[in-house]
Amino acid sequence: MSEITFQNALVVSGNGEAAEGTDVVVADGTIIEIGQDLEVRGEAIDCTGKWLGPGLVDVHTHFREPGQEWKEDIASGSRAAAAGGYTAAVAMPNTDPPIDAGHLARFVADRGRQVGLVDVVPAGCITLGRKGEKLAHLDELYNAGVRLFTDDGGTVADAGLLRRAMEYLAERDGVIVEHCVDAGLAAGGQMHEGEVSSRLGMAGVPSEAEEIVIARDIALARLTGVRYHVQHVSTAGAVDLIAAAKAEGLRVTAEATPHHLCFDDSYVESANPLYKMMPPLRAASDVAALREGLRSGVIDLVATDHAPHADHEKDHAWEEAPFGVIGLEWAAAVVNTVVGLGTAEFFRVLSTAPAGLAELGDHGTLEVGGTANLLVFDPEAAANTSSTVSRSSNAPYLGMELRGAVVHTMYRGRFTVRSGSLQAVAGVAG
Ligand SMILES: [Zn+2]
Repeated sequence: MSEITFQNALVVSGNGEAAEGTDVVVADGTIIEIGQDLEVRGEAIDCTGKWLGPGLVDVHTHFREPGQEWKEDIASGSRAAAAGGYTAAVAMPNTDPPIDAGHLARFVADRGRQVGLVDVVPAGCITLGRKGEKLAHLDELYNAGVRLFTDDGGTVADAGLLRRAMEYLAERDGVIVEHCVDAGLAAGGQMHEGEVSSRLGMAGVPSEAEEIVIARDIALARLTGVRYHVQHVSTAGAVDLIAAAKAEGLRVTAEATPHHLCFDDSYVESANPLYKMMPPLRAASDVAALREGLRSGVIDLVATDHAPHADHEKDHAWEEAPFGVIGLEWAAAVVNTVVGLGTAEFFRVLSTAPAGLAELGDHGTLEVGGTANLLVFDPEAAANTSSTVSRSSNAPYLGMELRGAVVHTMYRGRFTVRSGSLQAVAGVAG
């Protein structure tokens, strides 16, 4: 019987509150005791000064498998997730082929199980091939366990088609997850439309490109009663729309990414494509609104939009470089450094809320009898920003000073990160 006792941590357990000087005992993959001054069972691990809570959950990861394994695959992406303190990650369906049918979703989940570092949870497409013309095989996807449906990377432009998807999923309590960027308004856009884009003479993407899609979708969510989730919120106006929808009692949730919380559009002046993403980095006032939205709960959670691109793709002049950056390894440190949340709120936005959205029962809470998916985090230690375990290195965080380090990640009772080191796990190819 393998037993481990984590001692003297600041622990966030089932009630969502943080308690100091708390021990957690794990035996054979299950949490068997949480409390003060517990008798040590098995190996004792001192966690003085550290936070211990449920393993992190990302509802927005691009693992690029199948089809673009030179950027990342489920093995390398799982490593990055574990290194970042995650025990589950939802894989976006904009792969090649896109995940628009049941067997494809099963392939992604099976690959995740073979790798065995995090639960890899497939999201499914809303439309067939992400083409925006016909609905994907929503029934098959749902039967394969998919609960989050998105054409991420693109927006469902046809409101009639989206309404049909919403009606179908409202009956089953699935979630419509939207990448909100109006293609017409964003056409040719390279960055946020504002003072900086005017100065640089660069074509911009106005805030309205995001806000009109969210406003439309909220109207359709009201019409259909579906659960609706907004991906990568980037503007202050979007935060206001989401706040109003929540005040009305609609089942609307939203995420912010580490990069939108960390950087504003002044970084684009460097012309470094590591600051090129969609939606774009917005104005400083938008960044402030996102941080405040996260603190107030209008924005429910942090999701990475981890988007690997190989060096030969990203090392181009700004206009030719692809959109997106990786983030799994630094999301917790970014939240800890720039948002200023307490321990309980940290685990709420990075674990409990995302696990709830994706309906992952083994994640998001730390309870006696529950699966031992947990993170020990040192909020004062410097984050490792000198290297990455992802296959791609398109990270704006490399070289930055960020506070907060993953000390241990435990996935189903086994260390995937121990004392800051990624653990080799049988079945994972390098
Ligand atoms: Zn997106």
